[in-house]
Amino acid sequence: MLNKIVWCSNCVSMSTRPRISFDKKGMCNACQWTLKKKKINWDVRINKLKKVLDVQKNKNNPFDCLVPVSGGKDGSYVSYRLKNDFGVKPLCVTVSPHLPLDIGEKNLNNFINAGYAHIKISPPHEAMRKLNRNGLEFMGFPYYGWLIAIHTAVIRTAINFDIKLIFYGEDGEVEYGGSTETNKNPFYDIQYQKKIYLEGGYEKVLNKTKLTKDEKYFFEFPKLSTTSKNLKFTHWSYFENWDPYRNYLFAKKYCGLVEQDATNSGTFTNFSQNDQALYALHTYLMYLKFGFGRANQDACIEVRRGAMDREQAVNLVKIYDGRFPDEYFDLYLDYYKLSKEKFINILKKWTNKKLFKYEKNKLIPKFIIK
Ligand SMILES: [Zn+2]
Repeated sequence: MLNKIVWCSNCVSMSTRPRISFDKKGMCNACQWTLKKKKINWDVRINKLKKVLDVQKNKNNPFDCLVPVSGGKDGSYVSYRLKNDFGVKPLCVTVSPHLPLDIGEKNLNNFINAGYAHIKISPPHEAMRKLNRNGLEFMGFPYYGWLIAIHTAVIRTAINFDIKLIFYGEDGEVEYGGSTETNKNPFYDIQYQKKIYLEGGYEKVLNKTKLTKDEKYFFEFPKLSTTSKNLKFTHWSYFENWDPYRNYLFAKKYCGLVEQDATNSGTFTNFSQNDQALYALHTYLMYLKFGFGRANQDACIEVRRGAMDREQAVNLVKIYDGRFPDEYFDLYLDYYKLSKEKFINILKKWTNKKLFKYEKNKLIPKFIIK
């Protein structure tokens, strides 16, 4: 396997990334998409968006669509554009993450104060904690319960408010490398959410976690009745050229977004994914499973938008990737109610042995990015 690992010839994405594909020149599908985006007639897509939104505009409902937000740059950008540039009434919804960071809470409040109708959903704490814990052990996904809820609780809210359209920000698969099945179709369904976003582990983790029927409410996909079959899911990135940095500047200007003073754990940037301490563990596990971490993920975006050359990206990956978030270690043990040994064993279980070895508990990569 090691001699088959390649990095994209343009950015630094790795061939170990799930569902990624490369062309003959060794360019990953996210970079190919960056080139394709330059040729897309975005006016056509914006007009398509207007048509989609016109269908949703409803004088009899205070809300025309739903936007999941965290107070971060992307949901803020989408909400701002919908409300101010398209005259649409979004209902913004946040599922409270566990181990929230102060900066994330501050940003969410700033966003709400900028003038958005907003609902915060906090599913039963212990239920989500157990799902997160089992997600860590059985999926290598430290906030799996929250990941479920940002789909299921959001869908329940849309149905309860008779909203027919849910707007997510970017299609990560298309933008950052992965499945390309949605780059020609703006809408997707619950099956796609389960397969791609929940990585096919939804039933497994839910079954492993003993929850009562009531506790499960926010974590179950509702059975779609005739009316809710009309519920549509889409990504803003289908309709407009997606640029995370532009979103950041926008959210800073119009929605009160503030950055962390220091760089975020495990990377060189300070302005994204600031809402929860479990995100740093998530990207560490990503590194153990696939060999690329948070800095790699951020560097790829910078290269594709032309703000960094490949050599700089390689250097930043070498400096930052794969650093364990030590500052949260005790917090994690306490939260998951795991002993140090058990927690480390779970991390080892998820370590890709073809990519890494351990020497006296020290993680040694067998590969060097090039
Ligand atoms: Zn690439």
